Amino acid sequence: MVLIGLHLLFNAVIFPDSPRSKKASFRLDRPKLCVLGRPIPGEHPRMSFESLGLRAELVRAVSEKGYSDPTPIQRQAIPPILEGRDIMGGAQTGTGKTAGFTLPLLQRLMSSARPGSKRRAIRALVLTPTRELAAQVSESVITYGRHLPLKSTVIFGGVSINPQKQKLSKGVDILVATPGRLLDHAGQSSVNLSKVDILVLDEADRMLDMGFIRDIRRVLALLPKHKQTLFFSATFSKDIRQLADGLLKSPALIEVARRNTAADSVTQVVHPVDSNRKRELLSFLVGSNNWKQVLVFTRTKHGANRLCKQLISDGITAAAIHGNKSQGARTRALADFKAGKVRVLVATDIAARGLDINQLPHVVNYELPNVAEDYVHRIGRTGRAGNEGEAMSLVCVDEFKLLKDIERLIKRAIPKVVIDDFKPDPSIRAEPIHRGRGRQQQKTARKKPRSMP
Ligand code: AMP
Repeated sequence: MVLIGLHLLFNAVIFPDSPRSKKASFRLDRPKLCVLGRPIPGEHPRMSFESLGLRAELVRAVSEKGYSDPTPIQRQAIPPILEGRDIMGGAQTGTGKTAGFTLPLLQRLMSSARPGSKRRAIRALVLTPTRELAAQVSESVITYGRHLPLKSTVIFGGVSINPQKQKLSKGVDILVATPGRLLDHAGQSSVNLSKVDILVLDEADRMLDMGFIRDIRRVLALLPKHKQTLFFSATFSKDIRQLADGLLKSPALIEVARRNTAADSVTQVVHPVDSNRKRELLSFLVGSNNWKQVLVFTRTKHGANRLCKQLISDGITAAAIHGNKSQGARTRALADFKAGKVRVLVATDIAARGLDINQLPHVVNYELPNVAEDYVHRIGRTGRAGNEGEAMSLVCVDEFKLLKDIERLIKRAIPKVVIDDFKPDPSIRAEPIHRGRGRQQQKTARKKPRSMP
């Protein structure tokens, strides 16, 4: 009796949405479960992928990938997805959410195989905001599905459409796509979305930020009314909620990192510095700490190019990644960075979104983002899958207001550390930051100083 009682209690805690549990759904205001990639001591008994109900081929694939335990989002998302429920997931990248939706998606496709149909039809569609994220999700689908007879492909812009058409014409079960290129294919009738059973919207907030709402609505109009929808977003604005409300039917609500909070595994620090000495400070930090891999954010594409050139002239290997670069150049820069051929990858917010670089130890905000939420996304590039990470922000007097906005959003003050040789000149007056243009050189007007927030 005692054993049965314990068993039921275990299932109610670990499988809150399983048929064995009476609990209806997860709540967004649940306390944070913690970080990624490894079980949390004392949080729950040890769990395996098998016990989540995944089939042997999938368990084998994740164990070959080296995962021993499911991450919090995987524990929460996999059971309700397997049941066929819609999901509203509040999860940043770095939490293991890709496997969280891909594993059960593959399993559902296996169990809903259409025996009579001769040709493969697209039964799962994953929409992502950027080409890089599409490529990474597609790699995950291939990795996790390697022991299953399912076919997938990825389509995004910036590369020739014809090879994509050829792959699509041979038939695929899973399609990973960015919205614009998907609509190009739809316009040329090279894609048929009428058999989609599962739709995944990954990083929905970023898709809206990037102005894809119309494209998304046009894609939705091409899909069957009845389908399972898995909706993921790191933040939940009014627009996101509106989009989700129109799409989801009594979804299981899942959240692993509380909204708009920075991952606890990331140490954050602000280095106050004059604008015209930032580049020197960055080279000093990279050199004196002997950093081998650091992702640096600038606000503009022009700023990224300029900084990259300056770092190279300082003898530091660097590459830039942003929207004006060709897809080939972006892929090459990322590959060189991952392989350790370049030490510094300079990126704009949009280009960096979704980059999955394992164990990235340092992120530097060379310039603070105009939108405070982008800070959370930026520092989420480090401290992933349970590793420690460090996020540094080089902040000049012009950016104090942006810093205040960020601190208000993350509900904590970021420690300020002045580096001896780079003390800011207190007489420099703040100047407005021009959106979308290269930062202006600070003028050394001697007026009332402002204190660091
Ligand atoms: P994602 O949030 O999907 O971008 O995943 C972040 C990183 O976590 C990726 O490098 C994954 O390979 C890794 N990852 C995903 N699931 C696990 C797991 N269960 N154990 C360890 N690492 C994982």
